[in-house]
Amino acid sequence: MMTTTPMNHSLAGKTAVVLGVADRESLAWSIARTLQQQGAQVKVGYQQKFFSRVRKLLEETQITDPQINGQKCDVLNPDELALFFQPYDSQGLDILVHAIAYGPPAVFTELPSDIHSSDFSETLEISTHSLAKVVHYARPYLKPWASVITLTFQASQRALPMYGMMGVAKAALESLVRYLALELGKDRIRVNAISAGPIETLASLSEVIAFQRSPEAIKKLPDGLLKSLMEKSSLKETDEFQSAKFYWEKIQDEFAKRSPIPEKLVAEDIAQSVLFFSSESSRKITGQVLNVDCGFSSCQLF
Ligand code: NAD
Repeated sequence: MMTTTPMNHSLAGKTAVVLGVADRESLAWSIARTLQQQGAQVKVGYQQKFFSRVRKLLEETQITDPQINGQKCDVLNPDELALFFQPYDSQGLDILVHAIAYGPPAVFTELPSDIHSSDFSETLEISTHSLAKVVHYARPYLKPWASVITLTFQASQRALPMYGMMGVAKAALESLVRYLALELGKDRIRVNAISAGPIETLASLSEVIAFQRSPEAIKKLPDGLLKSLMEKSSLKETDEFQSAKFYWEKIQDEFAKRSPIPEKLVAEDIAQSVLFFSSESSRKITGQVLNVDCGFSSCQLF
């Protein structure tokens, strides 16, 4: 009779880095909390401009659990990257989560054929190449069977109005996942991506605000649901933040209506999938993109 070793789902004794916490709504924060609740020793990375928000989150959490701390880590700053990963020299690193993306407003609002190369380069540098960069700094410390996880979006696979050239950057990110998996596989290090459905965060609200500030860009959108929601949201409130939230609420309602599982996604859904990729249950999976989107990307509901 064949015998198998039982899988271990606990992260006790594991070290984890989660990059990309801006505030309480960040997918990275939910991921960090979930990994820490499973026993991992977690360090979050943040940009200096979010220091006070992240400090507050960490202080609240450290009262109950000292297993989580933070350090600034801007992926455009080589000194911060080197300092961030240095402490893993002694303990090694088991889990590396990259939850980082940025594009200047024009990347979303301009037509793809009008994007300036400097805007596109910045988007690619922060949203795509930064994965290779953090792997470069973390690589000496990644232990055998370590897991590297990044976050992508389905606009990488089909063109989506309002996502612009960020969709191209996400397509390149997914390809990079496969190339890093090829590079690191011999060391038993895994690299995967989770393609998340829409969730309201600072990054997603900022995209909408970029359009609200550019009525010309709204006019250029193809006729359809996104354009009409955008027009309605712009009229809805005088406060652009509230107006962007109105848009996101409607987007999530429509998404749920058009998904086989008619539910809204929450950050915790993504965090649980990261947990799967962090655990021994996914030991032999690498170079993959897992859609966590209530089935939206796989089905066309009429
Ligand atoms: P968020 O705004 O909370 O996170 C984006 C993070 O990127 C921020 O913490 C920001 O500080 C960080 N960042 C930007 N430039 C950086 C730099 N130079 N150095 C270091 N960090 C930098 O938004 P989020 O939605 O949690 O985004 C996290 C990831 O999830 C992104 O890759 C995003 O594309 C992806 N994603 C989000 C959704 C969604 O609907 N929210 C869906 C699919 C994928």
